[in-house]
Amino acid sequence: MPSLPSPEVPWKPRVITVHGVGCLGFGGEWQEKVESVLGEQFVFDHIRHGYYRWLAGVDLAFEPVVVLALFGLWWWIRPVWPHDIRPEPLVVLVFVLAYYLRTVRHKLAWWSFWNQLFDRLIGHGPPHLIAHSLGTYLTCRAMTEKDFARFDHVILAGSVVNEEFCEQRWIASRPTPCQNLRNEVAPRDPVVIIAFLFRKLFPNRLFGGSGYSGFAGGPNLVHTVNAPELPCPSCSSMTAPIHNLFYRHVYHGGKLTDANHAAIYWLPYLLASNPQLFSNFLSIVVKAKEADVNRDFVDLRFRLLSLRKSSWGEGSQTLEDALRHHFRKLLPYGRPPTASQLDAGVIFTYQAILKSHGAVENSNYPDRQVWLRCLRTSVAVEFAVRQAIAHGIR
Ligand SMILES: [Zn+2]
Repeated sequence: MPSLPSPEVPWKPRVITVHGVGCLGFGGEWQEKVESVLGEQFVFDHIRHGYYRWLAGVDLAFEPVVVLALFGLWWWIRPVWPHDIRPEPLVVLVFVLAYYLRTVRHKLAWWSFWNQLFDRLIGHGPPHLIAHSLGTYLTCRAMTEKDFARFDHVILAGSVVNEEFCEQRWIASRPTPCQNLRNEVAPRDPVVIIAFLFRKLFPNRLFGGSGYSGFAGGPNLVHTVNAPELPCPSCSSMTAPIHNLFYRHVYHGGKLTDANHAAIYWLPYLLASNPQLFSNFLSIVVKAKEADVNRDFVDLRFRLLSLRKSSWGEGSQTLEDALRHHFRKLLPYGRPPTASQLDAGVIFTYQAILKSHGAVENSNYPDRQVWLRCLRTSVAVEFAVRQAIAHGIR
């Protein structure tokens, strides 16, 4: 435990999460995992919907209760079934009925979701929202049909929404449904490929392949980035509210929604950081750690100097600017920091960031909750300054 008061997160924005389909009763576990690492930064509010928890989404195309009931009925009357009537037409009939009656479950799921979302929106400002898989469809449907459904930043992972959604919704003469939208696209994810190919089987035209190929739209609406750690090539000339970020992995859940992914990609996005600056900043921390482990102290010194002159993208200030600001705030009479205090501030910030990422990867990390607060770099910096002062560095 640091011999200091804990680092404090000044304000926690609200984040709603929506899970996708489940399999054999499991599904949506990522919501707790993400909250376990980002819960020190945001207030989480999870939406659960239980109508697609068992068959991994097959029930979006065929209603399983109809299939089971009619085959059960056939099994029951089989002893008296006339031998001159072939059963194949009955099989076809069962699947046709199951196909048309899939809309009943779909309506129930939609109502369940919308009621829960409505309760979470009423009386609050627009929250952030993270949705996965079927949750992306439910979220985008709410944004399409309900003007009341307004959000700050929205993250869609493994999206099964139609590629035209943004073009149609943003061009409509209504308030835009969110400030910014991040669509995490993975063309090798088998589930989004299925959604792309078999969209016509699903019970609403809003289903489609934006998780496979990204959202369509003009350059003032949608930008596409080929790797999530790269800067957007188009934002330098014209910003856009929607970004397709392409990932090269094959995951639908798993690594796409795990704690590391949330800490590296979702946290800076929700804090409105510049992704390139944040990525550069983290890469300097990683290189400094390598030099530290290899006991290459010349390289370590170089990396820490580089870190000091870098920005992590929350505003444009460098680490040194932020350290100077906090030292002036905390030292008596608003004194500026000495060179030794600044050096110590850089080292303590570097250590706090390393520990915060150690805490993400290890659920038994000592004082985990304390270090998870330092995932927000501005919190790590203030904590580092407090440490430098408490250690009596002059
Ligand atoms: Zn852009």
